[in-house]
Amino acid sequence: MPATIIDGKAAAAELRQRISHDVAQLPEPPGLATVLVGDDPASAVYVASKRRQCVQAGMRDLHRHLPADIGAAELAAVVDDLNADPAVTGILLQLPLPRHLDAANLIARIDPDKDVDGLTIASVGRLALGAPGLRPCTPAGVIALLDRAGVRLEGAEAVVVGRSHLVGKPMAQLLLERNATVTVCHSRTRDLATACRRADVLIAAAGLPRMIGPDHVKPGATVIDVGIHRTDAGLCGDVDTATVAEVAGAITPVPGGVGPMTIAMLLSNTLTAARCAGRESAAA
Ligand code: NDP
Repeated sequence: MPATIIDGKAAAAELRQRISHDVAQLPEPPGLATVLVGDDPASAVYVASKRRQCVQAGMRDLHRHLPADIGAAELAAVVDDLNADPAVTGILLQLPLPRHLDAANLIARIDPDKDVDGLTIASVGRLALGAPGLRPCTPAGVIALLDRAGVRLEGAEAVVVGRSHLVGKPMAQLLLERNATVTVCHSRTRDLATACRRADVLIAAAGLPRMIGPDHVKPGATVIDVGIHRTDAGLCGDVDTATVAEVAGAITPVPGGVGPMTIAMLLSNTLTAARCAGRESAAA
């Protein structure tokens, strides 16, 4: 029997509705500062979508569009301004940055309490320690999708393919936090298919089109496809959806799976940051 499709679009719409409701209860709307440097077309599309959904959720859109040739010091000063501005609840520096800019240095400048992408060293450390903090949007969105689909994580064998700072590593940590038994695979893994076949929950985040086939999947497993690739035939993920769906128990589609959840989690993080800032100012 073909796999159940895990509908990320519906999950994201539900989550956005809850966020809009909660935003309306706040004394002040949260403000999301998206920072776009240059005119990379894919980045422009992502940022436009984030801004649109931020406004739809009742938040303030505090976008900054900066020229591709901006200097590192100038961009650092923009980040400092946003850190200091009380109207700015969350800061998102859209990646990739133009080559002459050091993304790690600039991300490190973001106030961790405004780090709605969850990428600063403080956020990474908080996640590693299991302390409260803002979690990276894509892996947090995957956990929310799994929960909504009723997938039990405690004690489950979870395999993550990919170990990037953005997706694979935080994904593994979030699964561990939920008491899954976690295996992390990467480009040097020997016999990837055998490692993947252990998984009750398989997360594909390697960035290679359709690299996960039916041989990688245990019958009945839940398969989450984080990959996004533009091909001549349209969008596809890291999973060969049509063939894997014949083996898996449940699977996310591309598009309409993890992607919509990533932006919904960005809004969720902005709401969390606003609540924390509100508590701090009330305590001061
Ligand atoms: P990276 O390129 O930063 O990381 C890819 C990871 O996959 C690396 O750890 C790499 O291993 C591993 N890898 C590469 N080839 C293989 C292989 N043959 N076998 C096993 N592991 C392999 O990518 P990201 O983590 O940033 O993104 C992954 C995918 O997710 C991309 O397609 C990206 O577009 C998509 N994405 C989707 C998002 C969404 O909202 N849906 C958000 C973010 C990303 P090693 O470390 O050894 O090099």
